[in-house]
Amino acid sequence: MHVVYGGTFDPVHHGHLRLALEVSECLGNVPVSLMPCHIPPHRGETGATAEQRLRLLELAIAGEPELRIDDRELQRGGASYTADTLRQLRSELGVDVPLTIVLGTDAFAGLDRWKEWQQIPELAHIIVVQRPGIILNPEGEPARLLAKSAVDSASALHGCAAGRVLELNPPWLDISATGIRDRISLGQSPRYLAPDSVLAEIQHMGLYGACPAKNF
Ligand code: ATP
Repeated sequence: MHVVYGGTFDPVHHGHLRLALEVSECLGNVPVSLMPCHIPPHRGETGATAEQRLRLLELAIAGEPELRIDDRELQRGGASYTADTLRQLRSELGVDVPLTIVLGTDAFAGLDRWKEWQQIPELAHIIVVQRPGIILNPEGEPARLLAKSAVDSASALHGCAAGRVLELNPPWLDISATGIRDRISLGQSPRYLAPDSVLAEIQHMGLYGACPAKNF
């Protein structure tokens, strides 16, 4: 089983990390690869660069054997299209290895606006993580995909290579990268929202308006 969990990770925080571990455990302690997407330069002005986001991820997962990083979208550059990424992964893994992507319901709700979205369930299973307050439009394509492909146990994802959708409802920590960036830019403390190692590096690099000379 190969599992990828994509996001901007600008910066990575405890919400992402807890979710990645919950997914790993639920699938039987399989590794989960955090996969930062490339952000086109015009969208990245206020955040961290690709290299900085990657550095923060490395610090965040240090010492946790089940968490990995897959930086292929950063290496590829340009817009990060999930269908392209999954095709690449599928050609590396071969046709038989189960491949799973992890999406919050917010992302899953907009799946039918993604490039070549119909190919995504052909290439991978999808774990949809319930995000509080997000309800799928019952008439929409994502809800139809869920109705057609839902399975009720993680073991069903091990049984074939792609095409199944599992809804998970782990505890959702109310933390967002936007909230962390906002706190830092306002001079408020972001402590306990992300690992100390990540926050120390943010401060050291002066990211998001942090002052390197002043401790969080
Ligand atoms: P931003 O606030 O910049 O939009 P974010 O905190 O939502 O960022 P992203 O990097 O955009 O984080 O999210 C990557 C993935 O992580 C998405 O699938 C999203 O649903 C999920 N995610 C975001 N916040 C949490 C959280 N608190 N707990 C679990 N998963 C989360």
